[in-house]
Amino acid sequence: PQLGYKSTFRASELELQRSGAPGTPPAPQDLVFGKFFTDHMLTVQWDRERGWGRPRIGPFQELRLHPASSALHYAVELFEGLKAFRGDDDKIRLFRPELNMERMQRSARRVCLPEFDAQELLECIRALVRLEGRWVPRDPQSSLYIRPTFIGTEPTLGVSPPGRALLFVLLCPVGPYFSGGFGPIRLLADPQHVRAWPGGAGHCKLGGNYGPCLELQQAARARGCQQVLWLHGPEQHLTEVGTMNLFVFWERPDGEQELVTPPLDGLILPGVTRQSLLELARRWGEFEVREAPLAMGAVLGALRAGRLREMFGAGTACVVCPVGEILYQDQLLSVPTMDNGAKVTTRFLRELSDIQYGRVPSPWAQPV
Ligand code: PMP
Repeated sequence: PQLGYKSTFRASELELQRSGAPGTPPAPQDLVFGKFFTDHMLTVQWDRERGWGRPRIGPFQELRLHPASSALHYAVELFEGLKAFRGDDDKIRLFRPELNMERMQRSARRVCLPEFDAQELLECIRALVRLEGRWVPRDPQSSLYIRPTFIGTEPTLGVSPPGRALLFVLLCPVGPYFSGGFGPIRLLADPQHVRAWPGGAGHCKLGGNYGPCLELQQAARARGCQQVLWLHGPEQHLTEVGTMNLFVFWERPDGEQELVTPPLDGLILPGVTRQSLLELARRWGEFEVREAPLAMGAVLGALRAGRLREMFGAGTACVVCPVGEILYQDQLLSVPTMDNGAKVTTRFLRELSDIQYGRVPSPWAQPV
């Protein structure tokens, strides 16, 4: 790097230009995920010669990009997703945001986007959320979704690490995930398609992982399923549910109860919710908690023997989402999550929501 190269941006150098046309936040029941944006956004530019520029909060607006930008051609792009919650005490809290910052840095390394100080980005995000405080819904099931995004803006068609990049952060108020009540979903399990593979980038939150999943997601919809159950390999390991991590609560053949989720073997996105549920369950200490491969054969066996109690997806959007049915090789398998009272699933939902909305104090929920 040249003399004067800045290896990170600094929150203390944040510039602010206020929007001249502030909007009106919709009522929580009118919110559609990712459709409404707040008045301001954060942007920071990087280039190979000078390093990072000053972070800037300005009016929400369209980007101007060179049409050769590497994000547009080679998916030199990554994103994050986390939430801010308004508690009954009116305080706004972020949920374990440092885990999203770490994941963002890991994703950046995979596509050769430059490093930055995660604490500085988090401080800039805090400033943006504080400025947009009136957009954080006053509703115990709604929240403000935070979308950090990092793109290569290298204006050259060669496939190489970008010499220019843009980091930006958008905010969207989001409503209740289960607007029609806490209900189970039906999954399409199709072994012909995979989301990620050994040595690939499934463990990074890269835009390039998501676009290619749309075709099967659409096929799932056409067959009456809400999400795809992503399988992998000759043993048809269950990996993820749509854009959620997968959990199974079952009785082992020896009668012991356990919670299982696939291990972080490179195929699985290391979810913040996943990690939090594992930590909660281990703290409860009431049943075995394991990160282990889940083969379709083992799941089918447990279903047949009546040993599978609950199956659910876990992610920032919903916390947990119960699974009710799996369409697999033209057979509709019934998963008894709700019949078993979804006890573990709903306990996770309750305990995590209590922390997120500040009803139960926890270092996981950080006032902005
Ligand atoms: N898996 C995938 C593929 C995802 O996109 C997400 C959402 N980020 C998750 C799992 C859940 O991760 P988190 O709990 O951090 O939202």
